[in-house]
Amino acid sequence: MSHDGIRITRKEDESEEARPLPRISITPEKVRVLLTEGKGMEIDWVDGHRSAWSFAWLRDACPCATCVEERKQDGRKSGQPKAKPAAVLPMYTPPAKPASAHAVGRYAIQFNWQDGHSGGIYSWEYLRRSCQCPECTFDDEAPTGAPN
Ligand SMILES: [Zn+2]
Ligand SMILES: [Zn+2]
Repeated sequence: MSHDGIRITRKEDESEEARPLPRISITPEKVRVLLTEGKGMEIDWVDGHRSAWSFAWLRDACPCATCVEERKQDGRKSGQPKAKPAAVLPMYTPPAKPASAHAVGRYAIQFNWQDGHSGGIYSWEYLRRSCQCPECTFDDEAPTGAPN
């Protein structure tokens, strides 16, 4: 009588396959900061997706501790502008624009805003999660800040 009838084989890479792959890339292929045009920033991601943000949106989405705290107190989402007081004389406020922008290591970008603010470090991950395209914002009620 033979005992070699039962054999259990195991797929070696089964656990590897079960691990969920990240669905989106947070590595930019190309970053364009449209400083001269004053429009905003565009990023082409390595997965082929393209994101765009206006400077106004980026300024109101500043990820520094002060701005995050301020938005939390106002109940504003990232990129949502401050409520303007209704009864005062309309005053022209120029749209936010950075004087310069530079890369922070390999993971983020920093803007030196013309209003003197520069504390926010915009990581690629934060930006990708804040993509303003219809595909990424379909379930988000935040106002779109993408340049047209
Ligand atoms: Zn800030
Ligand atoms: Zn998107």
